[in-house]
Order: sequence, then structure tokens, then C-alpha cells
Amino acid sequence: MIDMGVSVRKLNNALKSLGLTVDMLDAVIVTHEHTDHIKGLATFAKKYSVPVYMTNGTSHAVLQKIPYANNIIHTFCGGDGFDIGSAKIESFLTPHDANESVGYIISCDNITFGFATDLGFVSQNIKNMLSSCDFVVLEANHDIDMLKNGVYPYQLKQRVLGNYGHLSNAACAKCVVDLVQNGVKTVVLAHLSEQNNTPVVALRHINEMLFTFGLTCELFVAPVHEMEQPILLGMEVEQPCLALGSFA
Ligand SMILES: [Zn+2]
Ligand SMILES: [Zn+2]
Repeated sequence: MIDMGVSVRKLNNALKSLGLTVDMLDAVIVTHEHTDHIKGLATFAKKYSVPVYMTNGTSHAVLQKIPYANNIIHTFCGGDGFDIGSAKIESFLTPHDANESVGYIISCDNITFGFATDLGFVSQNIKNMLSSCDFVVLEANHDIDMLKNGVYPYQLKQRVLGNYGHLSNAACAKCVVDLVQNGVKTVVLAHLSEQNNTPVVALRHINEMLFTFGLTCELFVAPVHEMEQPILLGMEVEQPCLALGSFA
């Protein structure tokens, strides 16, 4: 499981809807310490012993708030890789105002899955990493005009728009074109702002850009609050190696 931005109660309900329990998770991998990514971790660490992987920088920030999580936290350097069971995990540093934040590439049973949210821009390294994937979850945080004309205070607008903030629909669309040209077949747009974006606006941006380049791909939007139908990766295995039920 990637990140834990919901309460343990909500997590349990979500897993139950997939026929799973927390004990069936091999591990949790965390991108960074912002609350919308670790909200459930304080309670999780009291109740469960499932290993939770994060960078050294993220763990410093997390342990200041949740020192007892030390028992289940495993650390690595941002950019390093490791294995969880038969899954190969690679990480890449993301430009974001957090402490050593990362995105992930997960390879298992000949399927490669990439995850990149909370990034101010898509660096060449990130593009290269995601280009190797069959399936990518990518941030489409805001529509630039909606953000600029919206209710956020000036400082927050500058933070979101900055190189260590969040990815706009326009920047996401450019990246999706590159990824599809490199063979990525399916993209899930994620981490949409409720104030400064809508699924319709995000999809329009990405579809228009793909159309301009004469490209198509399978596109989904991860809902912000509820579980979406799982997308099962790995058609030939009875027990799919990756199931994505997504909270943004
Ligand atoms: Zn976030
Ligand atoms: Zn963040």
C-alpha cells in the first residue's frame, strides 16, 4: 500500500471492500510526511506490525510526531531501491516542500507501475523512471487559472505553483504525452485539488494535449474521498499482483 492519508477505520473499510485485511498487507510505502499522506499512521503503529517503508528524511519528520512508530518503520535513502516479497521497489526523489519526499516504481510479475504525486515539476529523472512503466499514477493537482483566481491566500498560491509545490494539469498533460510516446498505456490522474480542479477539467486538459499529438491512452481519475472500483493489474494471475483502489 502506498501512503496512508485516511484514518485506520476508513482504511479497514476500504480494504474490506476489496476482500482484504490489514494483516494481508506485505508493507506500506510512504512518499512523505505531509498529513494527507500519513494521517492514519499514528493509530496504525499502535495496532499493527506491518512494516512501513520511508526515506531517512521522512522518518525524521514522522518520528518527531509519532516516536513509537519506530518499531515498524524501515528506512532507505531517497533514490534507493529495495524488495518487498517478489515486488521490486525503486524510489526517486520528488521536488516538493517536504523532507526527502519520493515517488515509486513497483515491478512485479512483468508489470511495472509508477506513482508520482506531490511534485512541483517533472524532472528528467522522474520522466525517465516513469517512462519504463506500463501503468502510472500521476498528480494533476490544479488548473492554473482556477488556482490564480481562487480563494487561496497569496502565499499558498505561490507555494502550490512553485517548483516545490504541486503539478498543474498543464504540466501533467505534457508529461502524459511524453509517457504515452514512451509506451505507457494507462494513466490515473491523482491528488486533484478540491478547490482548484475538477475531474472534468483535468481530463479535458490531458485529453486535449493527447489529441494534439495524435495519441490515446487509458485515462482514469482517482476520486478524492471514496474508494473507486479497483483496477487489477496482471491479467493472467488469479490473485492479481497489484490492486489499485485509490484515494487521491
Ligand atoms: Zn499531498
Ligand atoms: Zn505533500
